[in-house]
Amino acid sequence: MAIKRPVFKPYNQQQILAIPPTLEELIPQGHPVRIVNEVINKINIEPLLKAYHIRGSSSYHPQLLLKVLVYGYVTNIYSSRKLAASCQESIYFMWLSSMSYPDHNTINRFRGVRLKNALRSVFEDVVKLLADEGLLSIDEINTDGTKIEANANKYTFVWRKSIQTNKEKMKKQLTEIWQYAQQLAADEDKMPEPPDFTEIDSAKVKATVAQLNEKLAAKDNIDKKVKDKLNYVTKNYPLSIAKYEQQEAILGERNSFSKTDTDATFMRMKEYHMKNGQLKPGYNVQISTSNQFIVNYTIHPNPTDTTTLTAHLVQHEASFGKAPKVLTADAGYGSEENYTLLEQKEVTAYVKYGMFDKEQNETHNSKFPFASDKLFYNQEKDCYICPMGKQMDFIGNYIRKTSTGFEQNVKRYQAKNCGNCPLNGACHKSKENRVIEINENLKRQKQKAFELLNTEEGIQRRKKRCFDVEPVFGNIKQNHGFRRFLLRGKEKVAVEWGLLSIAQNLRKKAA
Ligand code: SF4
Repeated sequence: MAIKRPVFKPYNQQQILAIPPTLEELIPQGHPVRIVNEVINKINIEPLLKAYHIRGSSSYHPQLLLKVLVYGYVTNIYSSRKLAASCQESIYFMWLSSMSYPDHNTINRFRGVRLKNALRSVFEDVVKLLADEGLLSIDEINTDGTKIEANANKYTFVWRKSIQTNKEKMKKQLTEIWQYAQQLAADEDKMPEPPDFTEIDSAKVKATVAQLNEKLAAKDNIDKKVKDKLNYVTKNYPLSIAKYEQQEAILGERNSFSKTDTDATFMRMKEYHMKNGQLKPGYNVQISTSNQFIVNYTIHPNPTDTTTLTAHLVQHEASFGKAPKVLTADAGYGSEENYTLLEQKEVTAYVKYGMFDKEQNETHNSKFPFASDKLFYNQEKDCYICPMGKQMDFIGNYIRKTSTGFEQNVKRYQAKNCGNCPLNGACHKSKENRVIEINENLKRQKQKAFELLNTEEGIQRRKKRCFDVEPVFGNIKQNHGFRRFLLRGKEKVAVEWGLLSIAQNLRKKAA
């Protein structure tokens, strides 16, 4: 009886095709790679051409490299080596690169150097194309921020506070040695008082160390401990103070930086896997979205969102020639400075303030019945009425400056005879008469925001914000695994985020 054998389909690797298929035929219609190709073909690459020299050997076409990079970011391939390998392995990349094989150095140099000044205009062109197709609006945006870890060592930090502490120690040591020299000096060789160390700098430290050496080095009766101290000071302080000055220049307005990426600032990362709120070097990325398309992005060193809005709106205006008409954002942006900015630019702001959600909560309101915002204001007499019905008179105002230099006018009102009041203790904790501080402008702005946010449209926009801007971060971080920048320095990080934003927009268009 014949043995039955399994039947297989024909398999012959040496099969010769009469008409071999082209790469074009192998790419399915509607595939995301076709969207990348089509969109990049439409954008103006003139700004990109400026990054090339006329002389020298021929280069890969910038459109080719841009398509490879953007498609790489669309498909979660971020490393230049993997992108270079994909150009030899994947038909999608082969099609985009027309069977050219740029190496990883070429890709990296294109991304880190050539795109530095040109990517913003590429991104803007993509956004304008999508806006023309009616997929997004550049007038009605939702703004939010997230922190992304920098490609920097988390243990190579420099803190402003530790520089200040070291400088204080320096001042103390120098003053002590100076005072010792004063005691030792003979009457005829009297030493002046120690220098004024309120401000300490390189020149002052060098001069002080030189003077101390001049007075003490020649003496035989100098205490050994002081001699050791003087030796240490002479050897280390001039170098240390020069280093601190350099570090302070890098710090600028910040409180910290990483030595391996000096543009990165230490921030608390929400998603840190240990969930212990560890500080890591990173960047605060701000985006504005419309229908989950990224309309604008900016990179900031500030860990909080509040102080980023000005620069973010400036970028929006620079990109599109006008401010948005409507902006929706969470309570992180609800400051007097931001409300004022949005008023000046005539932007309708659906922006919550810090206590907006709590104010809607009855339990919270009942916990603080005597809060200053619940007191009645008598406009005619410019006074507040306290819970006992007594008048709280205006006692003066002062200007408070925020960290960005924004000036707030704060008015103060004081009650009388709180000591005899039965509500004393429940109404306020101070031993003196109760004083309240009122920022009238902020109070007005909060009232305006409260009314706007509680309109039918306000409620709809608040709901929409949650599923417009927030999922974009979730998608990039969670679904596409981008949690850490690959490049170092703010400019290069901006290029990376620009590529991610283009990729996000093209993925969304393809979907
Ligand atoms: S403690 Fe002072 S401010 Fe408070 S209710 Fe009494 S009098 Fe008014």
